[in-house]
Amino acid sequence: MNAALNPPPPSTHCSYQLLIRVEAPATVRVGALGVHRFDAGWYLYTGSARRSLTARLTRHLRREKKLRWHIDHLLAAPGVTVTGWRTSARSECAWNRAIGGKVVMPGFGASDCRSGCGAHLKRLSDSKGCELQARFHSPSTKTRPPGR
Ligand SMILES: [Zn+2]
Repeated sequence: MNAALNPPPPSTHCSYQLLIRVEAPATVRVGALGVHRFDAGWYLYTGSARRSLTARLTRHLRREKKLRWHIDHLLAAPGVTVTGWRTSARSECAWNRAIGGKVVMPGFGASDCRSGCGAHLKRLSDSKGCELQARFHSPSTKTRPPGR
């Protein structure tokens, strides 16, 4: 795992957001939550990692992995890409609610949510998605197998 996050997240941050682009409608089985058809467009996922934010983000940006969280299932679907990321010291729930957008699959990423967010994945309008894209960091795609 040698993908670089540029810039590295500050150590005081423990929340992160992923900006996600769904190119064409995608029908995805999201673990135990069931099957959902995600319309094409922009989505935003808000999460947190208490220990290593860098490790968590790097994992999200990697394609090959064991599917563990709801978000893993969505990101593994064809035509679904993370187009940007950013981090914050805010609580994930406050940040998630501040962003607006629309809950399309209740419970998504919210298994541990005690704040009534509904979901930690939001569908964004096209204009909001484009606006956020300009403010997020680009994911590095320079991943190479070690030793090459
Ligand atoms: Zn929440």
